[in-house]
Amino acid sequence: MAYNFYCLQMKLEQGQEIEVGKKGRVFFPPGYYFYAGQARRGIRKRLARHLAGPPKKHWHIDYLSCQALPVGMHLYTEDEGSECDLARALDEAGGQIILPGFGSSDCNCPSHLYFFPRARSIPSLK
Ligand SMILES: [Zn+2]
Repeated sequence: MAYNFYCLQMKLEQGQEIEVGKKGRVFFPPGYYFYAGQARRGIRKRLARHLAGPPKKHWHIDYLSCQALPVGMHLYTEDEGSECDLARALDEAGGQIILPGFGSSDCNCPSHLYFFPRARSIPSLK
């Protein structure tokens, strides 16, 4: 079965202001960030982009992945739902929204990026 979406876990060692495209400069506190991303096609390229740091910033996540260290990744298949289900699970796990609308311009989720001050595991959706 094909992988459909993913969770990218990043660590930000020090709090810092990061410019996120048109959203402007935002302060990101130190800790762990979980991003719910969609990649129905080209998941390898997408993940490689996160790991390498993108050459050109296009998505909101590109601005953060240039500064934060990727520390974990999980791929989900279609039968586990969608990236929006993952975002909801992160919300229910007590994740905080640092920047409303981050990565969720194309859906109705409040955010696809959730912040946790301490390390935690990537949520399972099964
Ligand atoms: Zn969504």
